[in-house]
Amino acid sequence: MKDVIIIGGGIAGLSAGIYTQRGGLDSLLFERIFTGGQAATTDLIENYPGFVEPISGPEFANNLTNHAKRFELPILYDEVTELQLDGHIKRVITNKETYEAKTLILAMGAQPRPLGLPGEEAFRGRGVSYCATCDGFFYRDKAVAVVGGGDTALSDAIYLSQHAKKVYLIHRRDEFRGAKMLQDRVFERENIEVVWNSVVNKIITGDKVKGLILEDVINKRERQVQIDGLFVAVGVVPNNQLVEGKMNLNDAGFIKADENMATEIAGVFVAGDLREKMLLQLITAAADGAIAATSAQNYIAINFT
Ligand SMILES: Cc1cc2nc3c(=O)[nH]c(=O)nc-3n(C[C@H](O)[C@H](O)[C@H](O)COP(=O)(O)OP(=O)(O)OC[C@H]3O[C@@H](n4cnc5c(N)ncnc54)[C@H](O)[C@@H]3O)c2cc1C
Repeated sequence: MKDVIIIGGGIAGLSAGIYTQRGGLDSLLFERIFTGGQAATTDLIENYPGFVEPISGPEFANNLTNHAKRFELPILYDEVTELQLDGHIKRVITNKETYEAKTLILAMGAQPRPLGLPGEEAFRGRGVSYCATCDGFFYRDKAVAVVGGGDTALSDAIYLSQHAKKVYLIHRRDEFRGAKMLQDRVFERENIEVVWNSVVNKIITGDKVKGLILEDVINKRERQVQIDGLFVAVGVVPNNQLVEGKMNLNDAGFIKADENMATEIAGVFVAGDLREKMLLQLITAAADGAIAATSAQNYIAINFT
């Protein structure tokens, strides 16, 4: 039996692992795809304290993984398919095996929210993308659209403007939520056209994505734009499938926890984008991981001696 099993190898899970290993806990981390999580799909990170110069997302993710490995955190690349949370001992089930632990740290993070339009899923990876840094390269000298108004949408538009001939940045309001510094950069780029107060009504497709029908939410007029690629950046949905119906979630599906990252189930802690909080960022996810690990250690000291 493990002291702690961490589910998810993003910054929250890896930070938790660094702390549990340094605390001498017998730890195990599961990651279903690649460590680094969403950070690995980011172009440049420039708001993480201590990194004076911007660092690329993949490099940052690599550093995180190497940092956890330096403390010999055992990482299993396998998807957790079920959790058994009742009772003193928790069970973590994968397609191959069942593992037991005194405590769990849930760090499954989040993934991009789809627009929910017909054709979006069918053309995913063939003209519809949720990761500008992964797919932007394919749109060299082409026209693309980014939908959203937060940091991710603004960063995506800036990144894509370096590859694409034209970038439409479509936002349903008349001002952005994203950082002022990013807004300034967007406004500086001549090949970014901001389409304010507009939503996407339809993705026009044939053998590939061909365009969008946009609706102005104020005057209800429709407009058609020709594009080769659509990048969706309208927030995230929590990866809560393992705990749906088993735990207290908020209306948006995020797990509720106290300031020690304790959920309502004794011995189960949550960290990162999966947790209900105001700011879903690397710095808060890292802090959550550290706190969850410390809470798990305290819980074990009280309940397993
Ligand atoms: C494009 C983009 C740009 C961003 N830019 C910035 C930025 O510049 N600055 C900033 O501070 N923040 C940025 N963010 C936000 C930041 O990346 C997230 O807040 C952070 O990654 C959350 O970390 P996490 O560990 O909670 O979750 P995630 O990074 O989502 O990691 C969760 C991990 O859990 C794994 N997992 C999920 N379910 C299972 C399962 N059942 N079994 C095993 N593994 C599982 C996933 O594969 C994933 O690797 C950006 C996000 C995106 C998408």
